[in-house]
Amino acid sequence: MPGPFPASSTGAPVARSLTTTARSTTTTVEAEEDRFDDAGRSPDPSSWSEALVRMSEAEDTLRAIAAGEVDAFVVSGAGPGHRVFTLSTADRPYRMFVENMRDGAATLSSTGLILYANRRLAELLTRSREQIVGSPLTMFLAGGSAIGPHLFRGADGRGATLELDLLDAEGVAVPVLVGASPLDVEGDQLTCLTFSDLSAQREQDRLISDLSLAQTQRMDELQDAQAALTKQATHDALTGLPNRALLVDRIDQALARSTRSGANTAVLFVDLDRFKQINDTRGHAAGDLALRRVADQLVSVLRPMDTVARIGGDEFVVLATDVDSRIHAVDIGTRLLEELCSADPIGDGEHVAASVGISVSVAGRGSAEALLHEADTAMYEAKSLGGGRVEVFDVALGRQVRRRSAARRMLQSAIDERRIVAFYQPLVDVSTARIVGFEALARIAEHDGSIVPPSAFISVAEDTGLVVQLGAQVLQIACAQAGGWPSIAPDEHRLTIAVNLSSRQFEPGDLATFVRTTLEQAELAPECLHLELTETAIIDLRPDILEQLGQIRDLGVELGLDDFGTGYASLTHLRRLPLSFVKVDQSFVQGLGTNEEDERIVAAVIDLASNLGMRSIAEGVETTGQFERLRDLGCDQAQGYLFARPLPSGDVAAAIERSP
Ligand code: C2E
Ligand code: MG
Ligand code: MG
Repeated sequence: MPGPFPASSTGAPVARSLTTTARSTTTTVEAEEDRFDDAGRSPDPSSWSEALVRMSEAEDTLRAIAAGEVDAFVVSGAGPGHRVFTLSTADRPYRMFVENMRDGAATLSSTGLILYANRRLAELLTRSREQIVGSPLTMFLAGGSAIGPHLFRGADGRGATLELDLLDAEGVAVPVLVGASPLDVEGDQLTCLTFSDLSAQREQDRLISDLSLAQTQRMDELQDAQAALTKQATHDALTGLPNRALLVDRIDQALARSTRSGANTAVLFVDLDRFKQINDTRGHAAGDLALRRVADQLVSVLRPMDTVARIGGDEFVVLATDVDSRIHAVDIGTRLLEELCSADPIGDGEHVAASVGISVSVAGRGSAEALLHEADTAMYEAKSLGGGRVEVFDVALGRQVRRRSAARRMLQSAIDERRIVAFYQPLVDVSTARIVGFEALARIAEHDGSIVPPSAFISVAEDTGLVVQLGAQVLQIACAQAGGWPSIAPDEHRLTIAVNLSSRQFEPGDLATFVRTTLEQAELAPECLHLELTETAIIDLRPDILEQLGQIRDLGVELGLDDFGTGYASLTHLRRLPLSFVKVDQSFVQGLGTNEEDERIVAAVIDLASNLGMRSIAEGVETTGQFERLRDLGCDQAQGYLFARPLPSGDVAAAIERSP
């Protein structure tokens, strides 16, 4: 077996007395002796394995031993033959080192045959060295024939490092890092190879890549969960539209952009007019369906860059960026309304109407919250004007809204502190000019003693529903007051008390009961109480309202229609409602004697009332001319400044006493 380190001849002079063998192996003394001629020279000095160098100088010999180039030495004595001492340990450490390397090692001939393989390489290949040595290396490489020895030389011929797969006896690939260094031995192009086993490293790589794959999957899952959470936090679950939080963010962004560009940003508040009814009568599933359809419709009408958000039950908000003008914003609002009105969201043949309020910011002015508030205010205005329309917020509307909210606070505290008072305006019999009764008119008594008229709080009371409490207090006060009148007026002359009713007072559903207990507490005869309904209050003859009216009528209380001619009451209303009187609105009465048309209307209403068996009462009579004309037309009763203004309760007795 050739040594791993091919030895070279030193070419040093040969000693007579001491002969050394250049690096050989464990050749026996006899074998060594056989190779020497008489002069002790190697027969073939070019062959390293058989080189025998004689050294003449002991110094040279020692240096050669020190350099590790001596395998054995021969002592020539006086006697026959030589004595040969083999330096069997001379290169042993190196052999041992190569043999026991942690890496595989091999020497390759220029034709790619394995000349030497260490123990570790045999282990890696799971073969004996006999099977390995003498075989082409490619036999033991995966993808073998493609890998020629030239690969180990590298581009510059200085060797190379490359990763390959060895094939063990079972055909299992063993990844290795191959280090190759060329070795020229007297013209022979040999290659020294080392093989570092990469199996453990590959396994580690695989583990790391598995881990990072698992980690990537986990990250993806986390990202999905995060995205779902974000969507949940920023979108409405029912419609999938952005919610208020996301909307506010988008408005803020749009405003920031508009500050730079000078563009207009419009916020449109859309509130459905009929939604509560759908929910109440068709159930929540139908309500949900309607909301989803409305959401789709709104999205379909708008440009892709606009945002539609759902911010409450039936409240949607549209953010339209870069609108040309307020008119453009109104166009968008009108288009939304038309689209909604044309659809039949739950397939019941009924269309959804909506009220749209718009606020426009010029060049990014204002904040998201302020714009939303303004658009909401404008929407509220659209609703209070009957719904199904578009209103734009402006400064005047803002002022009006502030006034209304101040009025609401004033009314609420007056109700809470029972500072609601009634003033009483007499009604006179047209033929006798005698007081037949009074109408109770609500007022608020301020802390400073001033009196606030209904024009300052009635519409707010209606809108907010506070009119229910207000009406209840007025009814109680008026009935209590009228309960004391028999002591003032003579018995045969029973004074009536008229109290105004708002349609909202029917909402709790127990108005008849309340009226009855109030009458009982005041010890007032039901016939003395007259309740006045406005035309708008009874515009839709809802069965529940009709029923309550019937119950009240059954108590003996009289019902009448106030402000007749200003609303939409039809003959049907007059026929179907259990009415006893009709009050001709003062706007017609005041035209008596000056406006023929008004005169004809008043005459017609008086006739109509008489034909339907109702009393006619003229409101707002200010002149004797009007009064006389009413008498000529056959009007039954009259009320107005001509007789008296609404009086504080303390002045009622005097008015009764003055009455003819
Ligand atoms: P109304 O029920 O039609 O009351 C008649 C209104 O006309 C009263 O105004 C009265 O002061 C006014 N008036 C009476 N005679 C004349 C006149 O000769 N000339 C003029 N220019 N006006 C006259 P008031 O007291 O300001 O009440 C306004 C409205 O507020 C009432 O109209 C009624 O609709 C409502 N209202 C008043 N009190 C109540 C209440 O307790 N409940 C409800 N729901 N509404 C009330
Ligand atoms: Mg009235
Ligand atoms: Mg009236």
